[in-house]
Formats: sequence, C-alpha cells, structure tokens
Amino acid sequence: MNYDVAIIGAGPGGIFSAYEIIGKRPDLKVAVFEAGHELSKRRCPINGKDIKSCIKCKTCSIMSGFGGAGAFSDGKYNITNDFGGTLYEYIGKEKALELMRYVDDINLAHGGQGIKLFSTAGTNFKKICIQHDLHLLDASVRHLGTDVNYIVLENLYKELKEKVDFYFDTPVKSIKVCEKGYEIECKNANFKCTKCIVSVGRSGSKWMEQVCNELDIPVKSNRVDIGVRVELPYEVFSNITDELYESKIVYCTKKYGDKVRTFCMNPKGAVVNENTNGIITVNGHSYEEASKQTNNTNFALLVTKTFSEPFKDSNGYGEAIARLSNMLGGGVIVQRFGDLVRGRRSTQKRMDDAFITPTLQATPGDLSLVLPKRILDGIIEMIYALDKVAPGTANDDTLLYGVEVKFYNMHVEVDGKLQTRYPGLYVIGDGSGVTHSLSQASASGVFVAQEIVNSYNND
Ligand SMILES: Cc1cc2nc3c(=O)[nH]c(=O)nc-3n(C[C@H](O)[C@H](O)[C@H](O)COP(=O)(O)OP(=O)(O)OC[C@H]3O[C@@H](n4cnc5c(N)ncnc54)[C@H](O)[C@@H]3O)c2cc1C
Repeated sequence: MNYDVAIIGAGPGGIFSAYEIIGKRPDLKVAVFEAGHELSKRRCPINGKDIKSCIKCKTCSIMSGFGGAGAFSDGKYNITNDFGGTLYEYIGKEKALELMRYVDDINLAHGGQGIKLFSTAGTNFKKICIQHDLHLLDASVRHLGTDVNYIVLENLYKELKEKVDFYFDTPVKSIKVCEKGYEIECKNANFKCTKCIVSVGRSGSKWMEQVCNELDIPVKSNRVDIGVRVELPYEVFSNITDELYESKIVYCTKKYGDKVRTFCMNPKGAVVNENTNGIITVNGHSYEEASKQTNNTNFALLVTKTFSEPFKDSNGYGEAIARLSNMLGGGVIVQRFGDLVRGRRSTQKRMDDAFITPTLQATPGDLSLVLPKRILDGIIEMIYALDKVAPGTANDDTLLYGVEVKFYNMHVEVDGKLQTRYPGLYVIGDGSGVTHSLSQASASGVFVAQEIVNSYNND
C-alpha cells in the first residue's frame, strides 16, 4: 500500500496531524499506525476487586491506543509556553499559542462546548504565593475532565475513520529510507509513504531511540522529574482550585536551592497507577461529572534532575528509583506525611486510622527508603511552604504516593519545521522530547500537518 502521509502513533500528536491534513487536503491518502487498540477496546483490567494492581499487559491500555496516553487523562489542555514543553523554541511563542488555541477550538467543537476556561490572569493568589516565596506560573487551562475528553476523542475518531486508514494493534517495527520516501515495516506487511510523521509518545521512547540509532538521527539526553503524588481532602486546596482549577507553583528550596514544583492538579480526583515500559509509577486524574468525583484533591510534587557527564541517562536514573519502589512495595508505595517526618513507615493500621480515604490502593511503606535524600528533603520543605497558602497541606494524614516519575524522551534533533535531517520525516509530540502535554503535542501535530499541506499546495 502506498500513502502520501503515514502517521505513527494515534495519540493527540498523531490525531491532530491527521485531522488537519484531511481537513485541508481531503485528496491525500493518509494512514495511521497504532500499537494499541481502538478507543472502544481500550480497557485497563484493574477493577479493584479480583485485579487490584497492574498485571503488565502486553500493550498498556492506559498509555496506548486511539487517544494515546491522553485518552484517560484528566484532559487538562494548558494554553501556555511556561510549561508542558518547549515547542515555542522551534516554532515561536506566538505561533505555539495560536496553535494551542486552535486545538482548543477543535475540542470545543467536538464535545467540549460549555467547559470553562480557567486563567491565572489577574488572580490575587499570585500575590499570596509571592509573599510566601512561592511562584505561580501563568496559564489558561481548559479542563475537559476524563469523561468529556473521551467524548471528544470518540467524536474525532468518528470523523477521521471515514477518511483515514487506521491500523490498530499494529506496532511499527522500523522505518526505512527509500527512493521516494519511507517504508514502514510492520509485523505482517510493509507500507510505503512519501511523508512520515512519527508521534509515538512516551510509551514509544525506547523504539524512538532505536529508530534514531538506525537512521543516525542525533539525539540529546533530556531531564527526568522525580517526586510523589500528594493526596489531601478537597477543602485544603479548594480556595485555589475553585478559582484556578490547576495551579503550577514553583518553590526554590532553602537547603539546596533546588526547584520543586506542583504538577497535574486534580480537584476531587483520583490517584492512578501508570505503567511505563513495565515500571509502575503513579499519576492522577479527575472527572468533570459530579457523580464521578471524590472527596480528595491530588497533585504531584516534582524535582527535576538532568545529567551530563559521565552519566547521561536521566530516564535510567528515574527508572532505577521507580524499580526500587516497585521492589519494596510490589507497585506504588503510600505514606502519611506524619509518618514520613517522624521517620517511621506507614502501616495498614495507621492508614485505617487516618481521616482520609485513599483513592488508590497502594502498599503502606516508607518513601525515605526509596527517594534520594536531596529530593525527599525538597519535597518536605515544599509541603511546609504550601501549608502557608493552603493550610492543612502539612497535616499528618496528607498522603504521599511514590514514586511519580515524569520520563521525557530523548531530544530528537529536528529543525524549525520539526523535520529530521531526512526531508519529509517529522518527529512530533512527546516522542520528540519537545513537548510533554496534551496541548503542545496536539499543536505540534497541527504544525507539521500545515507544513505538509503547504508543501503539497506548492508542488
Ligand atoms: C494518566 C495520565 C494523565 C495525564 N494528564 C494530562 C493532562 O491532564 N494534561 C496534559 O497536558 N497532559 C497529560 N498527560 C500527558 C499527555 O497525555 C501526553 O503529553 C500526550 O498524550 C502526548 O501526546 P503524544 O501524541 O505525543 O503521545 P501519546 O499520547 O503517548 O501517543 C503516542 C501513541 O503512539 C503509539 N505508539 C508508540 N510506539 C509505537 C509504534 N512503534 N508503532 C505504532 N504506534 C506506537 C502509542 O501506543 C500511543 O498510543 C497525562 C498522561 C497520563 C498517562
């Protein structure tokens, strides 16, 4: 089969590439290859009854399939250049924001209409933060919620499947450069295409490295973020989350001068497992619909680590720490803040006596046996700092789940068109190391689609 454009990966990057190409040039033949299942068949087997924790499926339904890692995510589309990636370094700040807004409009037109856009502009909370040496980053956020996010994906799929050839359960094995484009090698067949967009996200990180190796595309080590997911009663953060929904707050520790930041805030949300290449870490999400909401709010506290010489493998470092927590806890470990600062492990009894009901079943344990001292000290210092703007954060019963690791793909060398050194071979989204958010991954998809459409229009 020959295609004008082959897209590898049906996450937000791949979906928005396909959507834009087909919308602007319906005459082009487009295929999407996806390692995971189609949306309706994506189901994580954890049901809280007979299957309580991750059984390491061959393809993780949380991370793979139509919708990518974003399908069951919280659906928080942050419109900002301050976090979520560095797309602006390639395409410019104005263009990046313009495309994030464009993606937002498409989401609204596909089921997200009526969802409020929260903004930090003009908030008094910024002043309160600065008075306590905390720094609130600027952003606008559209929180679709896991439920509405799913509806938007369903609607996009309905529209796309009529015009695009989707190959699900089809992991691409390799990409070969040929005379008039590229050959996409899959298990049972090979396909040819003139242009190829690679959008394989975090779950495709190892494969992406292999492809770069084979095609001699330069890559650079990226950072890794390591920390915990904090869970506390909704009321503790309600003053902030009711106004802003999500707040990205950065704190510089007194002890080491390290930066600790809040990440992915989920009011009335749930803490969940995440499986990255067989390693179980923790994440969180929340629903827009009131009946699915919980009494707790969760968010991550993360510390960034970058390595240069002689050790470069930031992800390897994060993986080793996550593996240690998996070894001690059989998965994710949970500890009460009060137990952590008293230097004792949390036990099931102490958890049962607590005034908070955890939303994730995790093993009560001791995070100080897992997290490096410097990272843990930073997290504890940040919790006391947050306690000043959200009293109750440093309560004994505040739960810390570990570990949360944000793995970033190696930075793939791409130019200002997100194109590799091979003309017509683009690498976008989280798989490129350039983005790490729904809005920037999606915007990068629209960007290359427009580049491709322009190149055909100019032919
Ligand atoms: C639980 C959770 C909650 C999150 N919440 C948010 C949030 O609220 N807001 C936010 O901005 N971000 C959030 N994120 C991150 C967000 O989901 C990602 O940044 C985003 O999905 C990246 O999009 P992408 O298209 O680059 O990659 P992905 O979404 O990872 O999609 C890549 C796709 O490529 C496929 N693939 C990989 N290798 C191959 C191969 N060899 N052949 C074929 N297919 C392949 C994968 O199966 C996957 O479906 C969350 C992530 C998780 C896991």
